[in-house]
Amino acid sequence: LSGEFDNLVDAARADMSARPGLSLCEAWRDLDLAAIRRDLIKRLGQAGIDEAEIDTRYLMRHALRPDDLTAALAGEVLVSWQQVSELADLASARLQRQPLSQVLGTQPFWTLDLRVTPDVLTPRSDTEALVEAVLARWPENTTRVLDLGTGSGAILLALLSERGEATGVGVDLSRKALEVAQGNASICSLSDRACFVEGRWGNGLEPHAFDIVVSNPPYIVSDVLAGLAPEVRDYEPALALDGGDDGLDAYREIAGQLETLLAPGGLFALEIGYDQAQSVSGLLERAGLQQIECVTDLSGNDRVLLGRMSEL
Ligand code: GLN
Repeated sequence: LSGEFDNLVDAARADMSARPGLSLCEAWRDLDLAAIRRDLIKRLGQAGIDEAEIDTRYLMRHALRPDDLTAALAGEVLVSWQQVSELADLASARLQRQPLSQVLGTQPFWTLDLRVTPDVLTPRSDTEALVEAVLARWPENTTRVLDLGTGSGAILLALLSERGEATGVGVDLSRKALEVAQGNASICSLSDRACFVEGRWGNGLEPHAFDIVVSNPPYIVSDVLAGLAPEVRDYEPALALDGGDDGLDAYREIAGQLETLLAPGGLFALEIGYDQAQSVSGLLERAGLQQIECVTDLSGNDRVLLGRMSEL
């Protein structure tokens, strides 16, 4: 084993940049898997990561692959140094505070397992409140859904997965995000009902063509962004987070477009920051939208504003 390890270290030295976990590999060379696990938990904790134990479990499961990690930890399943080295690479990315979702390349959302890259906002469980609220208010005969700033496609795909008759369009400014969304539609077997187009919010889309419009736009106040966790601040796309000087830039644009985009009687749902219910409702009311209501997330924070476009 140790000879194999030395070869690995030699190969790794040849290309340091491709082996970010090299120093971890060296630190782990004389440890068994259970000791590696303890060491990783300690290092993640020291790096300021709260859920070090949970993250370690996910990283080990991803790198080591044995169905039964418990058996591997008890020494009942052999793991190769190649697997340990892969664990070291993943761990080193996480130690630098890259989000777990990006390190693993995947994030559960609703009932789906979505692919996640640095080009998209990691889908958050808070946003499931929006999905749930829209499903509960689903207008009769709804067929067409529009997701503005679709990112990974999370909201649109979750809705389509629950309503077999619906079709949807996801818009994003980022072409790379659209590639991720398209890939996720395919993973979720929803490609035949979802299409993705590059654009700024609803610009250029057919008027009154949508029964439901949803969006989780960027809503963080620019100055606040710098104080967020490194996972968000340093690794997630600012395009998906930065709402401008007062956090409301995107809502001003979207509110002005909803009347044009929605079919008469259509439903909209916007994710908002915990302290934005009043300001965003004001924007929506002034734009002529009706029956505005606010729904909270599981932590009890205001999270979603819903409302309707008037019937003709
Ligand atoms: N809720 C996200 C966060 O706090 C922000 C999402 C957004 O700006 N749309 O990181």
